[in-house]
Amino acid sequence: MFLFFSCSNNSVFIENGYCIENINVIDSEKGLQENMTIIVSEDKIIRVEKSSEIQLSNKNKIIDGKNKFIIPGLWDSHVHFAFEENLASSMFNLFIAYGVTSVRDTGGEFDFVNHWKNISNNNPNIYPRVKIAGPLIDGKYNVYDGNSVFFPPLSIKTTTVSETEKRVKELIDNGVDFLKAYEMLTPEQFKKIIEIAKEHGLKVTGHIPLSMDAISVSNIGINSIEHLRNLEMSSTANTEELLNIRRIALENKDKILGSTLRRNLHKSQRISSINKIDSVQLKKVFEILAKNETWQIPTLILYKGWAYKLYEDSEWKNTFDYLPLEIKEKWNYQIASAPKTDNTDRKIFSNWGKSMTGLMNKSGIKFMAGTDTPIGFQTPGYSLHKELEMLVESGLTNSEALESATSNPSKYFNMDDKLGYIKEGQIADLVILNDNPLKNISNTRKIHAVIKNGNYINKKSIDSLLTSIN
Ligand SMILES: [Zn+2]
Repeated sequence: MFLFFSCSNNSVFIENGYCIENINVIDSEKGLQENMTIIVSEDKIIRVEKSSEIQLSNKNKIIDGKNKFIIPGLWDSHVHFAFEENLASSMFNLFIAYGVTSVRDTGGEFDFVNHWKNISNNNPNIYPRVKIAGPLIDGKYNVYDGNSVFFPPLSIKTTTVSETEKRVKELIDNGVDFLKAYEMLTPEQFKKIIEIAKEHGLKVTGHIPLSMDAISVSNIGINSIEHLRNLEMSSTANTEELLNIRRIALENKDKILGSTLRRNLHKSQRISSINKIDSVQLKKVFEILAKNETWQIPTLILYKGWAYKLYEDSEWKNTFDYLPLEIKEKWNYQIASAPKTDNTDRKIFSNWGKSMTGLMNKSGIKFMAGTDTPIGFQTPGYSLHKELEMLVESGLTNSEALESATSNPSKYFNMDDKLGYIKEGQIADLVILNDNPLKNISNTRKIHAVIKNGNYINKKSIDSLLTSIN
């Protein structure tokens, strides 16, 4: 319970809370509001008002917000706790230190990711909120089958439609927050997933299955697409022909590994499709995605990081100091021993993705910022800020980029009545910045304090969160 006491001169006193005075508030509903007072009590924002219109009793705990900016807590909408299992326990502190107060885990073994979700639920004042999909739901020749270190067992193999149905229902009974459909599903399996999800009011994200095209997955009702993957194959003049070739290959007469089969198909169709994009077809795809509200999580920094080896830059590499020593050494070794192969194809896809993101934004398609951390040597938390920069580089305005990491994910999970904005009644997940992110999106990195569930984490505590990992 929070209580307001009206003292003499009508000054406001709040027991059980604190006031942030003279701060510049930024959210995607009202844009920038200067010189505001925010009152936080327990886990909620209970008042947001012009500082000139509210008189605070000096008995309050008052935080001076002069020349500072406050934004809603950030989401990374594409993370994997299960990809580097020995990093998982450090991911929470990294996210919080970088102002990431909520994450969406887009694939991992159920018990593993649910374990981290439970820990977060039990410690909402210090850890980010975790939404989980559980494992990727894949087809007969599933990609992430655990056959190598590159393909840890992140997925479940489902051979028939009824098996898909059974496994999806199990996941829902276990309490997943959304579902992730993967690339090797048949159209029938994919349709079944969407049908069950709709019955249960759950969102489905995924990759466009190789047996389908972007327009049909959008029309059937997928809610979001990760990595812009396979979109290029749906945007050429000969999309049908390419689809038929893939469908024959997917019969997998030679019984090769799912990961190899998928790689072969991308190899033969990805770059050639990008070179043959048909503007009429592309426009049609974008119109459908916009109309059906099929949101995109382009993970641009993942692609750019790989293609241009951004992880070799000192600023990026310095963030490895915050990782457990074992992970830091492993990543440095992997980076040093990576083959010096030609990255031309990766560069083409990275550049294409960036320009598509800009065009999609102009077409009215919505985005969520996601990184795929820790894949691609992406330090949890840090990489989200890099993704925001990429979104702006691709053509989103600074406020659209912020929206993609604040109000959009809240809407995605139907939580926008309580999260994602800075107004009365919302959960106090907030980030205080030393500079204005509407002027320069990189200012999201100039973090002065993080507030999680009302708990004020000052700069000193943030620094110790980062250094405590090792
Ligand atoms: Zn991923």
